Amino acid sequence: MTIHNALTVDVEDYFQVSAFADNIDQQEWGNHPLRVENNTQRLLDIFDEYKVKATFFVLGWVAERKNALVREIATRGHEVASHGYSHQLVYNQSPDVFKEETIRSKNILEDITQARVRGYRAASYSITDQSMWALDILAETGFDYDSSIFPVRHDRYGVPNAPEYPYHLKTPQGSSIIEFPLSTAKIFLYRVPVAGGGYFRLYPYWLSKAGLKQINRKEKPFIFYLHPWEIDPDQPRISASWFSQFRHYNNLGKCESRLRNLLTEFSFDTVMGVLKEEGLIQA
Ligand SMILES: [Zn+2]
Repeated sequence: MTIHNALTVDVEDYFQVSAFADNIDQQEWGNHPLRVENNTQRLLDIFDEYKVKATFFVLGWVAERKNALVREIATRGHEVASHGYSHQLVYNQSPDVFKEETIRSKNILEDITQARVRGYRAASYSITDQSMWALDILAETGFDYDSSIFPVRHDRYGVPNAPEYPYHLKTPQGSSIIEFPLSTAKIFLYRVPVAGGGYFRLYPYWLSKAGLKQINRKEKPFIFYLHPWEIDPDQPRISASWFSQFRHYNNLGKCESRLRNLLTEFSFDTVMGVLKEEGLIQA
């Protein structure tokens, strides 16, 4: 049986990423030329070419300004899900502020698509041991699944011992939500992230492929993510620390061709499609 893996896109622009959050204030976002619409459309065309459907976690700030793009994602048969509103790290927010912006962004997306939004992904996977309370708020505000927990060690995110594959998670207050953790694999004795984004740009393609194959060999689905700005090597450069620049700009020119290889070598579907196939969620 072919295992379908979840293909996901975090729809945000190049100046909204956490690596540049110290350099660009949210108030300044409006001053930067938006490239997210064109880049997302290019991804939609690539996905059509390979006949795959994906889940797009759309940032509320982008959705508010680009209604037609969100509508197009849905009408082209993909799943629209939420990436919050402001791209602030969840563990830096109070539960009240998090709840307010979660409802706000969900309403924006549902008004545009006229369909229920069932999935959520936090900015920079910022649901960690300090912010598990957010899962209660997600269950309470009507989300069926979350995909924000990264079972790795990292300076900004990660719950190192969290489960590796999709599962029913009991929230701190006793509610239930499905969690699709970001994918990791064992390479040279170490558990490493292979879920996409910066890792996909950093590693040689064969290493990403080996890690992802390992997951499918266990008859488990992986989840893969990328950002529209990752296929846009010509984006304006932001001045920031050497490390932030490295994280953001490394191998941008290689991302699209690697993505095309990936779409040829693995089978993909939306997150909802994969969760249904896994018997974790009802239609
Ligand atoms: Zn993001």
